[in-house]
Amino acid sequence: MSNYDVVVIGSGPGGYVSAIRCAQLGMKTALVEKYDTLGGTCLNVGCIPSKALLDSSHHFEDTQKHLEEHGIEVQGPVTLNLAKMMERKSGVVSQTTKGIDFLMDKNKIDVLHGVGEFEDQNTLTVNGKDKQTLTAKHFIIATGSKPASLPFIEIDKKRVITSTEALSMTEVPKHLVIIGGGVIGLELGQVYRRLGAEVSVVEYMDRIIPTMDGAQSKELTKVLKKQGVKFFLSHQVQGVSADKNEVTITALDKKGQEVQFTGDYCLVSVGRKPYTEGLGLDKAGVAVNERGQIQVNDHLQTNIGHIYAIGDVVRGAMLAHKAEEEGVMVAELIAGQKPHINYNLIPGVVYTWPEVASVGQTEEQLKAAGVAYKSGQFPMRALGRSRASGDVDGFVKILSDAQTDELLGVHMVGARVADLIAEAVTAMEFRASAEDLARMSHAHPTYAEAVKEAALAATENRPLHI
Ligand code: FAD
Ligand code: NAD
Repeated sequence: MSNYDVVVIGSGPGGYVSAIRCAQLGMKTALVEKYDTLGGTCLNVGCIPSKALLDSSHHFEDTQKHLEEHGIEVQGPVTLNLAKMMERKSGVVSQTTKGIDFLMDKNKIDVLHGVGEFEDQNTLTVNGKDKQTLTAKHFIIATGSKPASLPFIEIDKKRVITSTEALSMTEVPKHLVIIGGGVIGLELGQVYRRLGAEVSVVEYMDRIIPTMDGAQSKELTKVLKKQGVKFFLSHQVQGVSADKNEVTITALDKKGQEVQFTGDYCLVSVGRKPYTEGLGLDKAGVAVNERGQIQVNDHLQTNIGHIYAIGDVVRGAMLAHKAEEEGVMVAELIAGQKPHINYNLIPGVVYTWPEVASVGQTEEQLKAAGVAYKSGQFPMRALGRSRASGDVDGFVKILSDAQTDELLGVHMVGARVADLIAEAVTAMEFRASAEDLARMSHAHPTYAEAVKEAALAATENRPLHI
C-alpha cells in the first residue's frame, strides 16, 4: 500500500494541472487515469482534435474557394485525403498527450493507470495495469464527463454518433443531421460542411448557442447559413431510428407538425453529463446532486472534507480552462493558501470561423436582472485589418454599467476573437470601465481595434470609424 499527500483521480485538464500545482507546492502526489494516455476528454477526444480538424478543414475550404481572390491559382482540382487529415489530427493529439507524460515526470508525480475506486474515505484501489491500493490525506476527483443523450436515442456509434466518433470519421457524410446547435454541433458541423457534407442542425431552442449573447447567435447563424449549413430551430426531436446505411430523425416543428430528416449520420450533441461510474462514491459516502454532479461547496470540498472535486464532474461551465483554474485552486487550498475564482470571468469560445467569444454578462442576463446598462457595437467589416485578410464578418459588443461605466460583458464574433477576448478578461478582472478600454492605444491595423471602437461606442456613442 502506498501513501500520498494527494491522490488525483482523472488526468484531464482539471486533474493533471491540479497534480502539477500540488507537486509544485511540495506535496507527494499520485495521478490515477483509467486510459493509457493522459489528458482526458480535452486532449484525446475534445478540444485538441476538434481544433486540429477545424484548422485542416479551414485550409481545405480556403484552397478551394478563397485563394483565387488573392491571385493564387491552383492548377487542377483540390482533393481531400480524409485519412491523412485524421492521421495529422491523431499526431497532434499524441504529441500533446506525450507532453503531459513529460510534465508528470518533471514534477515527480507518480502516474498509475487503472480505474480508481474508493474502498472507504481514505483508501482508493487502482484496478487495471498498475493495480494497487493507495491511501492519502486528500483526494481530488477530476473524472470529467461523457456525452449526454436523449432517453429515446440509442447511440450505436456507427450511424448515430457522439463527438468522439465524429472526430474519427472514415468518410465524409453525405448528409450529417446534428441534434443540438451548441458548441460541439457547430464546430463539428462546420468541419464536415467544409469537407463537402450537407449539414442540418436541429435545435430545440429558438436560436443556436442559446447561452451566449443573442447578437452572437444571430450573426453566427447568418454566416453559417451563407456557408450552406441548414438550421431547424424550435424543433423538438421525438425519435431517431437507424439501419445499416441511413438514419431518420423525427421532430415536431414550432407549429407542432411532424417533420423528418434523413441522413447517413446523426451527431447527437445535446450536452455532456458528469462521469462517476466505477468510482465507488457510495463507499466513500460522497454525495451527488440530482444531475449526477458531485456536490461541492465554494472551496470545491465534497461533503467529506478531505475529498475535493473539480472540472466537468461538478457544477458550472464544462470548459477545460475552468477545470484548470479549479485544479489550481484546490491544490492551493490544501496548501493553506486563500485562492479565489471569479466564475463570471471564465471566457467562453466557439472555434468556428468566424470565432465567437464572450465574457461576463449577456444582454439577456442584464435585462433579466434589471441592471441599467449601455451598449456599444462595432462591426469587423469597418476595420482595415479585416478588409486586408477578407475576414469581414462579426462585431465586438460591449456592455457597461449605465451609471459607473464598469464593463459588464464583452461579446465578439470575428477572426481571432478567441484570442482577443483575453483583453476583455484582463480589463474586467481589474474592474475597468468602457472608457478605460477606449482610451488605451490599440495597434493599427489589428482586429483589436474593434474592441477600442466598441468601447468608444459604449462610453459616449462616439466610435471613430463608423
Ligand atoms: P476530463 O477531461 O473529462 O478528464 C477526466 C479523466 O478522468 C478522463 O481521462 C477519464 O478517463 C478519467 N477517469 C474517469 N473516471 C476515472 C476513474 N474512476 N479512475 C481513473 N480515471 C478516471 N473545452 C474548452 O475549454 N475548449 C474547447 O475547445 C473544448 N472543446 C471540446 C470539444 C469536444 C468535442 C468536447 C467533447 C469537449 C470540449 N471541451 C472544450 C470541453 C473539455 O474537454 C472539458 O471541459 C474538459 O476536458 C474537462 O476536464 P476535466 O479534467 O474535468 O475532465
Ligand atoms: P451545449 O450545451 O453547448 O449545446 C447543446 C445544445 O443542444 C443546446 O443548444 C441545446 O439547446 C440543444 N438541445 C438540448 N436538448 C435538445 C433536444 N432534445 N433537441 C434538440 N436540441 C437540444 O452542449 P454540446 O455542444 O454537446 O457540448 C457539451 C459541452 O462541451 C459544453 O458544455 C461545452 O462547454 C463543451 N465544449 C466546449 C467547446 C469550446 O469551448 N469551444 C467545444 C466543444 C464542447
